[in-house]
Amino acid sequence: MVEQEGSCEVLVIGGGPSGSTIAALLAERGIDVLMLEKDKHPRWHIGESLLPMNMPMFDKLGVTEEIKRIGMLKRGAEFISPWHDAPVMIDFNDALDNTYPIAYQVRRDQFDEVMFKNAAAKGARVAEECQVTDVKFQPGAETIVSTVNKDGSTQRIRTKFVVDASGRDTFLSNHFRMKQRNKKHNSAAIFGHFSGVKRLEGEVEGNISLFWFDHGWFWFIPLADGNTSIGATCWPYYMKTRKTDVTQFFLDTIAMCPALMERMQGAKLESPAIATGNFSYLSERSSGENYLLLGDAFAFIDPIFSSGVFLAMASSFAGADAVERCIRHPEQSVEALKEFDRAIMEGPKIFSWYIYRITTPAMRNLLMFKGAESKIKKALISVLIGDIYQAKRYAYWLFMFKVMYYAGSIIHFKSSFMAWRQRKRSVKYVDIGVAG
Ligand SMILES: Cc1cc2nc3c(=O)[nH]c(=O)nc-3n(C[C@H](O)[C@H](O)[C@H](O)COP(=O)(O)OP(=O)(O)OC[C@H]3O[C@@H](n4cnc5c(N)ncnc54)[C@H](O)[C@@H]3O)c2cc1C
Repeated sequence: MVEQEGSCEVLVIGGGPSGSTIAALLAERGIDVLMLEKDKHPRWHIGESLLPMNMPMFDKLGVTEEIKRIGMLKRGAEFISPWHDAPVMIDFNDALDNTYPIAYQVRRDQFDEVMFKNAAAKGARVAEECQVTDVKFQPGAETIVSTVNKDGSTQRIRTKFVVDASGRDTFLSNHFRMKQRNKKHNSAAIFGHFSGVKRLEGEVEGNISLFWFDHGWFWFIPLADGNTSIGATCWPYYMKTRKTDVTQFFLDTIAMCPALMERMQGAKLESPAIATGNFSYLSERSSGENYLLLGDAFAFIDPIFSSGVFLAMASSFAGADAVERCIRHPEQSVEALKEFDRAIMEGPKIFSWYIYRITTPAMRNLLMFKGAESKIKKALISVLIGDIYQAKRYAYWLFMFKVMYYAGSIIHFKSSFMAWRQRKRSVKYVDIGVAG
């Protein structure tokens, strides 16, 4: 088959939330951008719970009404712990800055299609069922990107700049062999959509619920189509104990959490459960000459705070500024990419502190503390809504939160030490042999 030739100023690998966001922003700024997606929308994807701080980004992209149309209104998060008497409901309205007090739960097939179409509507050139297979960077010259279409035809595309938004495929990280397993954290997940699940009632129906259990925690995400997305995020050693098929193992795991089981009497799993392996990683660097990495293509920590899509989109906003400077003012490229690196590192760093401690008794006690009117709890809620880029404004209250965490750890020294030791063992890498 004859290979086709093409060119563009910026080539985006992947049409998920980060790819579609940066493609829309660059096209709006008059840059000739080409986004290539190996699948065809609508296609299935995990990551359905969004944060309030996604909303200002939707406003800027002009997709808020579309997200409202497909989404389930989410006003807060419920935490259910077998070690505490009663559940705690966190209301996003109680954040220190409550300009954005709501978010949405979305089916990712619908959400990603909205975002992809928006990029095309803003003027980005887009192609589906077109997989990037190779990239050749040439110092001081244009980069050559090779692709293959579903029908087997291939293309060679010349471009000034490559944006890697390939998600967990981590295209450039693999290319440069710079993907590093996160040694401080490690978990795996099994999930599926259920019908007939008993939900919360009234205004809080769309809230996310998080249930702790012995081997990790469950998410419970009500979707607008009536189904509920339920998933278990577990330590890898637990996944390794699987002797049955993934679906049976998932149902057996749910049976270990009585509070969740109570809501699932008569529920039906709508399709076989899916498992994803050890998923915490970080790329050695976020950019280089004529390329940068966004969203999951750069790093992934853990889904407990539903931060993935938010961080992916935020990295795209920072990335758009950097790429525009690299294209229009090449002499500023080094500085632009340095600034981008600072921006992309900040989010995962802030969330990580909480994530690494989420299974400790001290952190659980603070999350389960009911005093939403205290400034310290409000600061925590501000992190939970994704209001992390103005965290300096409430740094004092976050500092006090950390002081309380460490004080709690000292007061409950024995259980904290045991939890620390257990966590150290749990995050050890175990090859659990499921698809990523
Ligand atoms: C178990 C689990 C639960 C999660 N829950 C949540 C949640 O509740 N809320 C939340 O916000 N986040 C959640 N996440 C994280 C979320 O899924 C991701 O952070 C988010 O999808 C990242 O967006 P992205 O655009 O960077 O990558 P993706 O959404 O993965 O998009 C990448 C795109 O690139 C395409 N692609 C890959 N390689 C190529 C190639 N070579 N050529 C062309 N196209 C390519 C892929 O087909 C894909 O469409 C969860 C993740 C996991 C693992």
